[in-house]
Amino acid sequence: MRESILTIPVNEIFEPREGCPVCRMRDMLESRTIEYIMGAAMMEPDVRIETNRQGFCKVHFEQMRACKNRLSLALMLQTHLQQLQKDVFTKAKTGMFESKTAKQKKVSAVNNDCFVCSKIEWGMSRLMVTFFELYQKEREFRELFASQEQLCLPHYDMLVANGASALEKKWLGQFVNDCTELTKKYLDALEADVSHYCKMYDYRNTSKNADWGNSKDSIERAIKFLTTR
Ligand SMILES: [Zn+2]
Ligand SMILES: [Zn+2]
Repeated sequence: MRESILTIPVNEIFEPREGCPVCRMRDMLESRTIEYIMGAAMMEPDVRIETNRQGFCKVHFEQMRACKNRLSLALMLQTHLQQLQKDVFTKAKTGMFESKTAKQKKVSAVNNDCFVCSKIEWGMSRLMVTFFELYQKEREFRELFASQEQLCLPHYDMLVANGASALEKKWLGQFVNDCTELTKKYLDALEADVSHYCKMYDYRNTSKNADWGNSKDSIERAIKFLTTR
């Protein structure tokens, strides 16, 4: 696989200041990987070996299914299933050379791994190195980070955990503060919107001119804040 498709300038990801920047990073890596495998790469033998071995998670199968190229997906599934028949469920070749545990490992890789998730993880770990370098080196980048709209809860957790080992002591305190501020600010606004939404179900708020304020999509935004999706 051409790993270059997973290199994205970190600065560009932080420019829009809309939603969680790490979600944007993930979305970018995700859509590039999906586009890549749904294109010509689907037919490349080395990619096929990897997709057969790892399979895909439900989220990424759904994203692939939403692409126009259904034949690509069907062909990929065909060899994926055939590989399972051959590697795990063929009786003739068992016993002698391959132990039960080796087969079980293959099954559990298909069940638990995902080709797209592993590419995202790979790309993310590299972008994170650049991210922490920029944070330490450039005042402008620190300001850009602090001026984000929000950090979702899983990515707050991820940044604070990684920051502890990636940042020099000198920057860690400020970084954790920045992260906390971004998450807390959004959490408070979100909580107010969800509470407002609940209140709108009150009998006194049933008129046509009832003011829903910012609350109409608050359920969706709360789920995204809590799960990244
Ligand atoms: Zn996020
Ligand atoms: Zn996945």
